Amino acid sequence: MEKKQFKAESKKLLDMMINSIYTHKEIFLRELISNASDAIDKQYYHSLQGQGGLAREEYKIRMDIDKENRILRISDNGCGMSKEELEDNLGTIAKSGSLDFKSENEKKDDVEIIGQFGVGFYSAFMVSDNVTVESRKHGEETAYRWTSTGAEGYSIEECSKESAGTVITLHIKEDTDEENYSEFLEEYKISSIVRKYSDYIRYPIVMDMTSSRLKEGTEDEYEEYTEEKQLNSMVPLWRKNKNEITREEYDSFYSEKFFDWEKPLHIIHSKTEGQVTYDALMYIPAHAPFDYYSKDYVKGLQLYSNGVLIMDKCEDLLPDYFSFVKGLADSADLSLNISREVLQHDYVLKAIAKNLEKKIKAELKKLLNNNREDYEKFFKAFGLQLKYGLYSDYGMHKDVLQDLVMFHSSKENKLVTLEEYVSRMAEGQETIYYACGETADKIDMLPQTEAVKDKGFEILYLTDDVDEFALKMLREYEGKSFTNICNDKLDLDTDEEKEAISKENEEAKDLLDSMKEAIGEGVSAVRFTNSLKNHPVCLTSEGEISLEMEKVFNAMPNDNKVKAQTVLDINVNHPVAARLKEIYANEPEKVEKYAKILYAQARLIGGLTVDNPTELSNLICDLM
Ligand code: ADP
Repeated sequence: MEKKQFKAESKKLLDMMINSIYTHKEIFLRELISNASDAIDKQYYHSLQGQGGLAREEYKIRMDIDKENRILRISDNGCGMSKEELEDNLGTIAKSGSLDFKSENEKKDDVEIIGQFGVGFYSAFMVSDNVTVESRKHGEETAYRWTSTGAEGYSIEECSKESAGTVITLHIKEDTDEENYSEFLEEYKISSIVRKYSDYIRYPIVMDMTSSRLKEGTEDEYEEYTEEKQLNSMVPLWRKNKNEITREEYDSFYSEKFFDWEKPLHIIHSKTEGQVTYDALMYIPAHAPFDYYSKDYVKGLQLYSNGVLIMDKCEDLLPDYFSFVKGLADSADLSLNISREVLQHDYVLKAIAKNLEKKIKAELKKLLNNNREDYEKFFKAFGLQLKYGLYSDYGMHKDVLQDLVMFHSSKENKLVTLEEYVSRMAEGQETIYYACGETADKIDMLPQTEAVKDKGFEILYLTDDVDEFALKMLREYEGKSFTNICNDKLDLDTDEEKEAISKENEEAKDLLDSMKEAIGEGVSAVRFTNSLKNHPVCLTSEGEISLEMEKVFNAMPNDNKVKAQTVLDINVNHPVAARLKEIYANEPEKVEKYAKILYAQARLIGGLTVDNPTELSNLICDLM
């Protein structure tokens, strides 16, 4: 017999597993059954390809209880394991990812996470002080027995076993003051755990159950008898009717399958019959996976053909902008052994994907209307993806997405939809106003914001890089165009106001021209405005490229730098305007310096940098 140590990581995990006070110790059974089911899946798959094995109805998972000896046994006739596989699979934990994850999330319940991350076999040690695995690999003559009492290590020896498969024997721990381990030796307990966690396993899980019945020939004498019973219904969760499923079942199915420790935000369960017939069970997660916004993230739904998994992540089932959806689709209209390449062009698959997209949109809309709080949570996690979706493919998906995106509102001080904005537009308002900046607070302080708010208009505050690009792609919403309030052409003034200001500009033409000359390339014009309220100056861009786009483009790591065309606006009602005129009349040589300072101020207010801070500092000192 060989005695071996667990690899370091395994040991660490094992200690954690055994020593944590875990409230759901019973999940060990779910883990072992799911391993057994996977082993049968593998074997069945091989037999489909003509590599021997049993007929489908012969595969099963067996539970045996030996109360006296405190033994619970789980047997399967799946693929089995060779000696090397026993060592590799049970002597080490390849998925050290679970460990890394743990150290980042120390505060979370240890084993809760472990349970979710598929280090399932080790959970057997939560309830047993000795675990034996006897396994014979399909097609091999020799069987091996792996034995371990936990952290000390394990041993492997040859043993005899009649047929291929695996038998796991748990010696259940003695009861303690806190824990009643003996319940795992009760038939009713085991059968209820199986129903709770493993009901949909597609192979029969059987156990000898003791019941009592009237003794034959008597009227009031009962006898006990034993009968093999199937514990699971074998109907996958998604095949059941909605009203037969509790929220808890939906949730635990989700966390088990998709390794998320947080409950899903929203569940979409649909059965569709008609042109194509399929069941779909989809989940909207409550938070973005850590790699969601990286290229490592792979989208997709599990794809089943009549209850049998044919692909783990079918990317074609989900558009990119809904890539956050987790779940599965199951259709009897799909053939079982279809290749990935053929599948891509399969019309059934295309039809399903199209329906799912519609369904997801409708459900998100429903969430938006009925549960604003959850929708906002969803949007904080995945809104960026929706906005990228609006922008991508030349705005092709706007019908799907335009009603799902939200932006911060100047009026409500929270996220609002375009529909909400348009529904309460002021009388005579022709366009949807927006402004860009790093944060809502910063935008709120822009001079232009003040002016537009003052006229009673609501403004959308765009704080993500993609926002303005998305709106540009959208062009309009319900016939209303979009206007960047830091861009030109606001046209908020009355005719009289316009006349007055153009007169002002005419009269001060020489002053303004000489200011423009002093500033140089930075601006295409300097002019007086009466739309600023308290601020002395601001920079407005003209043309297609806004100041925000300039910032976004120039932050990108390439050489395609762009420059927005800008105009320096000076508040005609501000004391600075009068002072400028005065200076121009008395000491015109000083205008150059003032122009440069005002321009630098306007850039800083707009969130842009100043090209030459030293020059600015010198100018100010000079004038002092
Ligand atoms: P996971 O199931 O998440 O891979 P486990 O620790 O539960 O992690 O199991 C490790 C591996 O051991 C499995 O991936 C599988 O290859 C093998 N294994 C476990 N139980 C069985 C079994 N009953 N029959 C065959 N192989 C098994």
